[in-house]
Amino acid sequence: MTRADLLVKGRIFAGGRVAPGAFTVKDGRVHEMREGDAREVLDFGDKLVTPGAVDPHVHFRDPGHPQKEDFASGTRAAAMGGVTTVLDMPNTVPPVFSPEALDAKLAIARAKACVDFGLFAGLDERGEALEIVGRASAVKVYLGATTGHLLVRDYGLVRLLLQEAAKTNRTVVFHAESQACLERHAHFADATFPSHAASRPPVCEAEAIAAIAEAAKGTGARVHIAHLSTKAGLDAIQGTGFTAEVCPHHLLLPETKLREGGRFKMNPPLRAQEDLAALWAGLRDGRILCLASDHAPHTKDEKSADNMPACPSGVPGVETLLAVLLPRALAGDISLERLLSASVAAAERFRLPRKGALAPGMDADFAVYDLGAARPVRGAELASRCGWSPFEGMPAIFPADVYLRGIPVVRGGKFLGEPGEGQFLAPP
Ligand SMILES: [Zn+2]
Repeated sequence: MTRADLLVKGRIFAGGRVAPGAFTVKDGRVHEMREGDAREVLDFGDKLVTPGAVDPHVHFRDPGHPQKEDFASGTRAAAMGGVTTVLDMPNTVPPVFSPEALDAKLAIARAKACVDFGLFAGLDERGEALEIVGRASAVKVYLGATTGHLLVRDYGLVRLLLQEAAKTNRTVVFHAESQACLERHAHFADATFPSHAASRPPVCEAEAIAAIAEAAKGTGARVHIAHLSTKAGLDAIQGTGFTAEVCPHHLLLPETKLREGGRFKMNPPLRAQEDLAALWAGLRDGRILCLASDHAPHTKDEKSADNMPACPSGVPGVETLLAVLLPRALAGDISLERLLSASVAAAERFRLPRKGALAPGMDADFAVYDLGAARPVRGAELASRCGWSPFEGMPAIFPADVYLRGIPVVRGGKFLGEPGEGQFLAPP
């Protein structure tokens, strides 16, 4: 019997529980879930060893706005946060509507990515995405206006897309804010930041989900709701068969933060305490499947605009995705096991091969955490190019070590990854 490359020991999250254990790694994959002969032994003692997190919602701004982020800086930030798989959204410049745009972005990402990645195709009103559904990792549909011009109002086209996605087993992700509803509430928007939340109320999320359920009927499509933010939205997905993701900012930051300015402006907006409570309950009991960052960096200057409409929507978050939630698990808001499950559940939902669990045959992507080592988030110290965080000063637990397919990309909190190491992922 040949030796394994690595023997990893620690408090391991596998099979739904955290327990002292060991696994071996061979040729970049988990070999056996027990001790075995290996060339190198990594004994992490009582530190937590968990599969690399899977973030199904990032905007790395590449191509288009590399001053905000690019694939190298974005995936470096991911790695520093223990995220070893990201799915990048299509509203780059040019947007990923066409075969040419997908190929161009794939070349950029392959050259620069430091962690594994998937790429979304985006549906526009010409429907070119229908041609590339089977080549992209997943598909995104915007039902409400947000960054970029990807707004779709034609539900017939949405239905065609859902049918095509069902044939190719791609998951279709919806930004669920109904445009008609947003237009009804647009008059609530003024120069002040709190008016951003007032002009995009919870009912717009629930209305969009109801419309998506109507469009998806009988298509057999795998539908996933992006950044679920309200109790009304959570209620609306019940019985639809849809899955949903939740962002740390919607769990941790109430809408009153908008009084502090543009660094708390994103779509959908921050919500009221009762929504935060409902999102926590949904995440705890599994009605919300997974975490997502909706990492959407803009520069500090852009986010310092003194009036609401002039400030772009979006906040960074890939690096803090799990880091800001681990202290909440230790505080008892959610079990550690459920939180860790939610940090990887997107892999199975999006059918990403060999991702999301430590089990024989899976990629040896894992992160090592000292759960006693919480420290405040300092935006200026993060790897993201934008250099700020909406979680500034909040306690966070960052990984000490991160491995991608058995190779260290972070060790002792220092980044060791290389652009070009990241591989493209798509459902089989
Ligand atoms: Zn987004």
